[in-house]
Amino acid sequence: MSYHSGVCNFCGTGCGHLLQVENGAVRGVFPSPGHPVSRGRLCVRGWHIHELMATEERIPRPLTRGAAGLEPVTWNAALDRAAAELGRFRPGEVGLWASPRASNEDVFTLVRLARGVLGTPHIDLLSDGWYSSTAGVLREGTDQPGALGFLTDVRSADFLLVVGTDLARQNPIVASELHFGARAGADLVTIGSRTTQLARLSRTHLRPAPGTKKMVLAALLKILLDEGLADPDFLAGRTPGAAALRRSLVEFDLAGAAKSSGLSVDALRDLAGRLAQAKRAMGFFSTGTTGLGRDTVALVYDLFLAAGKIGRPGCGVIPIVGISNLAGANDMGAAPDRLPGWRALPDPAAEAVLRSAWGGAANASAGGRVGDLLRVSGSPLKALVVMDHDEEIILQAEAIRRLDFVLYLGAFSNPFMDLAHVVLPTATYAETDGTYTNTDRRIQLNRRKIEPRFEARPAWRILTDLAGRLGGAWGYTAPADIFADIARLVPAYSGASYAGLGVNLGGLTWPVESAPLAGAGPRAVPLNEPIAAPAPADEAFPFRLMAGKSYYYWHQNNIMKKTFIPRREYNALLLLYPQGLVEIHPGDAARLGLRDKRPVKVVSARGSMTVQARVTTDVLPGMVYAPYFIGPMIEGFLKPEAGAVERGEDGVIPVRIEKV
Ligand code: SF4
Repeated sequence: MSYHSGVCNFCGTGCGHLLQVENGAVRGVFPSPGHPVSRGRLCVRGWHIHELMATEERIPRPLTRGAAGLEPVTWNAALDRAAAELGRFRPGEVGLWASPRASNEDVFTLVRLARGVLGTPHIDLLSDGWYSSTAGVLREGTDQPGALGFLTDVRSADFLLVVGTDLARQNPIVASELHFGARAGADLVTIGSRTTQLARLSRTHLRPAPGTKKMVLAALLKILLDEGLADPDFLAGRTPGAAALRRSLVEFDLAGAAKSSGLSVDALRDLAGRLAQAKRAMGFFSTGTTGLGRDTVALVYDLFLAAGKIGRPGCGVIPIVGISNLAGANDMGAAPDRLPGWRALPDPAAEAVLRSAWGGAANASAGGRVGDLLRVSGSPLKALVVMDHDEEIILQAEAIRRLDFVLYLGAFSNPFMDLAHVVLPTATYAETDGTYTNTDRRIQLNRRKIEPRFEARPAWRILTDLAGRLGGAWGYTAPADIFADIARLVPAYSGASYAGLGVNLGGLTWPVESAPLAGAGPRAVPLNEPIAAPAPADEAFPFRLMAGKSYYYWHQNNIMKKTFIPRREYNALLLLYPQGLVEIHPGDAARLGLRDKRPVKVVSARGSMTVQARVTTDVLPGMVYAPYFIGPMIEGFLKPEAGAVERGEDGVIPVRIEKV
């Protein structure tokens, strides 16, 4: 029996673990005591990740679709068919969906296949969920598209602000760090409409009405500016963009914001003062699905900037990433409007950059998001390449069925296979080398612990072989070769290598060769839209519904249901609420004659669902909350409201609640 160091691949915290290997199989998992972020802890998800490797739901061998459906074939036959099919489309007729769970190397090779071989710019992340807009705000302000602080500083902070997110469910070890910080004396503050575990541990929990978080942040910023609490450089207009931001808030109605949010001006003033006085202040907010919109993120950043807490040691704001490599996949350029390294398109120099890195022609133009292209009538797409996929949410299944060719690469059997013409089984993260970039820019190397099960192959190798059949001779023989290319093309990763990453438990944070925020001094980020109160509730839809996460349900259960304890806990929740649930305040429940666990109908302008009421003071009067993880709820109600759900806490849905 042997123990091998690695990184948990469930969420963006990137906790360190040790996998126990015996007779070529992973038998157990243990926390890594010396890991700088997780410090010898794993959450319940991480404690069971080894069960994934043993599941019988693996795709054992390559499959191609014939008259009788999907049939097993040899690797050569599957790759030949995939190459022949993809080779008959014109550039721009193929779309590619990368996976935020895949390693940097796998995503990078998919990007290279798209732009360098197929000549298409239509590539993005299926679960991007606004991370790119969040990181874009931070880049706009600092040139650094990622966390502006370190999780390792949390325990020594004296002020910790959590905006919105239910961290204990999304990234439990990050929440645990905040709890350690609070126990060490930090002033822990939560701003969120719903009562979360972390809100209960907070010294102050401000509960704004749903949809008013942006107003609250703007109010805090205005108080800092108008009442002389802000950083002197910012107040004097010496920070680029500060004067314009200040002007944009002149007309902002502080009293009106307090009224709309249901908070008092005194409470806001008190909080602004505590932030201003803190010496080591850090802010946290969710990204991705259930994250914050672009302007709300800009306000969090501007608030900390105005308070003098950006670019100062021990301070900063950290966007919390839900999925393991969402941040890294963005760094790799899995986006239609960016190249690897966040080089924004259009850019006249972009093609030369790709040519010099990859040789040969490459499409360096801006493309479209695959989901958007599938949605339009007369879609230009004729073929789709999908790497991994969440099990229960297959948006646009009808549009995908109409495509001429669909290639699916994944480790686990999945309903997406029903849509595919060729299925290529990939190795799991324990079966190949690969790097993953966590929520605070930590690039970590996961070494192969076991051989791939059945006939699975690493995705990077499959893509390299496919590119070779399509005329792209990449010459990659190992993931380290690909990482060397990444370090050449992604400036922040320059200086990193497998040799360096391999000797550092916890990896390296980017930028590897320079200090963080080493570029021009931070700038204020302007808002794109005016700050307005949400439309008043109307008679037809008087409640505001928010959707959110679960501890025991992760990645749309594609992974979690294959692990025993999390599946059991998930099912335990369904024992109480088998039809799914919506949380409602006791006062509203009494007024509507509702009782806990009794069925209710939730009706919006676009859909409806019948679920059970969970009567709780965790939600405010006039607000209802739906965890977005129960199949029938997703299908009948949340899918038609996908736009609002993706806006997370900013995307409230007007609904009415009917007794059934
Ligand atoms: S917090 Fe995230 S990375 Fe850490 S053990 Fe849990 S699921 Fe894994």
